[in-house]
Amino acid sequence: PPVAPGRKRATIISLCNQKGGVGKTTTTINLGAALAELGRRVLLVDFDPQGSLSVGLGVNPHTLDTSIYNLLLTRGVDPHDVITPTSVDGLDVLPSNIDLSAAEVQLVSEVAREQTLSRVLSKLRGDYDFILIDCAPSLGLLTINALTASDHVIIPLECEFFALRGVALLTDTIGKVQDRLNPDLELLGILGTMYDSRTLHSREVLERVVQAFGEDVFHTVIRRTIKFPETTVAGEPITTYASASPGADAFRQLAREVLLRCQDR
Ligand code: ADP
Ligand code: MG
Repeated sequence: PPVAPGRKRATIISLCNQKGGVGKTTTTINLGAALAELGRRVLLVDFDPQGSLSVGLGVNPHTLDTSIYNLLLTRGVDPHDVITPTSVDGLDVLPSNIDLSAAEVQLVSEVAREQTLSRVLSKLRGDYDFILIDCAPSLGLLTINALTASDHVIIPLECEFFALRGVALLTDTIGKVQDRLNPDLELLGILGTMYDSRTLHSREVLERVVQAFGEDVFHTVIRRTIKFPETTVAGEPITTYASASPGADAFRQLAREVLLRCQDR
């Protein structure tokens, strides 16, 4: 659709943590779906060569003609031809597959290599209210591209032993991107995930995270539930797969917090 004059550009948020299995992909899908439920137009960018975000939305990464990889490295590809709608109204995805793993190497010799994703997304910003980028579990050039393209970053932290290990390196990387590439980048919040209220341990980890990061920690905490792995198999977000579940409500609450923090009301 054509961009209405004066329409605001999409707010771009990266979901970032170089540790795998902390809930980045789960958060991207379900926060995106909850924002779409609130009437926002949302684009999810699968920026992990594993393609888990694509799979989680029912897109088969192996059968893609074009993916985010082509947008980064092939000239003349129209992003609108790569965007894939999902089963949720207002929620689209830029899918990825294993091709993206080559991009990390190929981008190295590109001019303005850190801004490559930013250039791609600038063509789409008028079409959406939010663009969420699901980062790979690394701090390599792809993740630097995601942070350079973003207004905000959300850090999901698993409420488990060693949750804070590596966070200093991550915040250091965010600081470097702010200094050298994207002064507008802001930490939107830290999200506690896989929380198990029955264990003292989970509660202690969350307490330590709040001690360390204070108001930066979202009030919403995502609990551990088998429903999330089930949604991946179903290929849809929890907001439609189990609409009345506590997990779906948690992501609705997170979406409202995100809107408040982004001053979108
Ligand atoms: P990442 O993208 O950081 O690697 P994922 O979102 O893919 O993490 O989550 C890793 C695994 O844990 C997936 O199998 C996912 O279904 C599962 N998972 C994520 N969040 C939860 C949760 N709150 N409760 C239970 N399992 C979860
Ligand atoms: Mg992931």
